Amino acid sequence: MSRLTEHLLVISFDCLSSLDFPIIKELPHFKKLLEHASFCRNVETIYPSVTYPCHATIVTGKFPRNHGIVNNTFLQPGRLSPDWYWHRRHIRGTTLYDEAKKAGMKTAALLWPVTAKANIDYNMPEIFANRPWHNQIFVSLFNGTPIYQLEMNRKFGHLRNGLNQPELDNFVLESTVETIKTKKPNLMLVHFVDLDSQRHYHGFSSDEAMEALRRHDERLGKIMNALKESGIFEKTTIVALGDHSALDESKAVKLNVLLRKSGLITVNSDGKIIDWKAYCKSCDGSAYIYMKDKDDTVVKDKVKVLLTNLIENEDSGIERILSSSEAKEKGADDKAAFMIEARLGYYFKEQHDGEYIDYIQVEDVREKRYTFASHGYSPEKENYTTMVIASGKGIRPNIEIPSMHLIDEGPTFARLLGLNLGQTDGRVIEEILWDHGDGSPGSD
Ligand SMILES: [Zn+2]
Repeated sequence: MSRLTEHLLVISFDCLSSLDFPIIKELPHFKKLLEHASFCRNVETIYPSVTYPCHATIVTGKFPRNHGIVNNTFLQPGRLSPDWYWHRRHIRGTTLYDEAKKAGMKTAALLWPVTAKANIDYNMPEIFANRPWHNQIFVSLFNGTPIYQLEMNRKFGHLRNGLNQPELDNFVLESTVETIKTKKPNLMLVHFVDLDSQRHYHGFSSDEAMEALRRHDERLGKIMNALKESGIFEKTTIVALGDHSALDESKAVKLNVLLRKSGLITVNSDGKIIDWKAYCKSCDGSAYIYMKDKDDTVVKDKVKVLLTNLIENEDSGIERILSSSEAKEKGADDKAAFMIEARLGYYFKEQHDGEYIDYIQVEDVREKRYTFASHGYSPEKENYTTMVIASGKGIRPNIEIPSMHLIDEGPTFARLLGLNLGQTDGRVIEEILWDHGDGSPGSD
């Protein structure tokens, strides 16, 4: 398969929503990028629409149940801070970066989810020290490319303030610029979280979120500038995309409180979970209900009656109950016995103590117990799509794709690099690509 571009740079602006399009198109650097770009401002995300499954979808072209990253975190009932799907080994099948590496291309990934221990030349994975005895620097070094990360930390580590935003993205930006200039990778994946973080803690349309959009515009400008200074701008395809949108919320639903009261979760005298038959695993805007023994029809009926009673009451916060096969059809984890979707204004938490519903207070959010906006909702929710903008080598200018799906991005990126992701759920968006040859209009 012929290759349409020499360098592909994918920049993920976490939580970039279709609703942001009218704003960013007026910002100087996004405006510049859009001048010769093709784009879709109506990209349907996956279910559950949380970051790790979304990013695994972007590099595989598959739905979560097919690539295996069905949530951000593992099912670990009772753990306050469950482990995340950090490692590449959790993804089933191939990825864009594996195929690029196999074809002899130079690869780089910065804070791209689910890349810990991946075979990437310059890898700074997104992984946090999740045990009190773990040290952040060592966890990062051990799971990515040590010398590369030491170099970036030495040069730009002073910009960081733990995992706080916008400092972390500023560090990622400087590392991205440096990596472009010194390594000139053929495939580069970069993940910025500033906007998502501001939306969680201040609300979807908050001033803080709007400030983050402006900072992202500056970051985009610096990246485009780095490509020009490195002399590879003309040979590069730049893609700017979002993974999901977000919705504001004011109430947290804690279904495990009811599962505990029904005897399906057992706690000890300290309130710690010691056993469970059914457990509500949050994906924020939606949740999986797992059963320890999926064939236990008594437990299943009990859960079903509980959910059916709840959904009759609007104040339960539950909008929809999906069976295992309905969840599968939507691309989510079919190992769950049920999946539930939150109503607007609600999201799911895993706590099993206190009240069934918590009304979110400003102090709760300040202390990071709750958030003011989240995602994870069904792609069918209104005003909930994301976007993708592609520009540069191999891309036809000024084509607007009316609608597409997140699963279409991976196959399209693979096509640009002359790679094949094999059996995917999505399709190549041929409409925006120069058909063949060297990627210039003359060769079409
Ligand atoms: Zn995200």
